[in-house]
Amino acid sequence: MRQLGLDLGGTDIKLALLEEDRVVDTATGPTRSEDGSPDAVLDRIVELGRSAGKVDAIGVSVPGLVDDDGCAVLFPNLHGDWVGVPVAAKLSAGLGHPVALLNDGHAFALAETRLGAARGSQDVICLVCGTGVGGGLVLGGELHRGIDDRAGEVGHHTVVPDGELCGCGNRGCLETIAGSRAIADAAGTATFTQALAAARAGEERAVAAFERAATFLGIAAANLILFVTPERVVIGGGVAEAGDLVLEPLRREVRRRAANVAPLAKIEIVAAELGPVASAIGAALQGSHEVVRSG
Ligand SMILES: [Zn+2]
Repeated sequence: MRQLGLDLGGTDIKLALLEEDRVVDTATGPTRSEDGSPDAVLDRIVELGRSAGKVDAIGVSVPGLVDDDGCAVLFPNLHGDWVGVPVAAKLSAGLGHPVALLNDGHAFALAETRLGAARGSQDVICLVCGTGVGGGLVLGGELHRGIDDRAGEVGHHTVVPDGELCGCGNRGCLETIAGSRAIADAAGTATFTQALAAARAGEERAVAAFERAATFLGIAAANLILFVTPERVVIGGGVAEAGDLVLEPLRREVRRRAANVAPLAKIEIVAAELGPVASAIGAALQGSHEVVRSG
């Protein structure tokens, strides 16, 4: 089976082509949502998707929430008015094939569990730390999507009572501290890349920004671990590219808070393996899963 996965991101649209669950090709195109036209973005997804040729299943991961009919509800990190846009219908028509939609955190979790850092594990928690912080939960080898596909929103766990206002309307969400933009702000740099370079150079304010983000990620991870006792916790997204600058303080915080209760010796906290194309791979896996289920 040829499985096509497409991932609509804030900057890029990514493609992963799989054959029998093995990645055989990847590609990237620009999203350019700042042009303000959702239709133009959907056309770019269709164009990239068509470059894969004939396929048996298609999945598309999106950066937000969609309703039962595949219409956009909230795509907070894209420009333009997406609310109510029939994403699934337009992509299916353009690609000439039914399209399975899922959110990018879920797609990431599915991909890393089946083919990446958690392969072989049945129970997995994934944290995706980019501009926003997302997540996904796999239980018994199956993605847990939750009611209306809303499970996994770890970025909006309250970690600081009365903390900073989050885009969701709540205060003190994990995302307001551990998202890449929040880290850059705390480090006093214009971009996350600059914050990372400054932290690697030992610049005190940048080091503290990463330490703080990792500590709060550790608090969130400890809480999730205590509740789920997964075999693996996978940390991905742009923030995870900081490697041990994030992973070490995160693991330390988990040990500090959960070691006396959770079986931490049996729980690995690892970096993601599939890189920026993970959500496209997960979308491809979900697309073929739905083809098999409906067939
Ligand atoms: Zn929030």
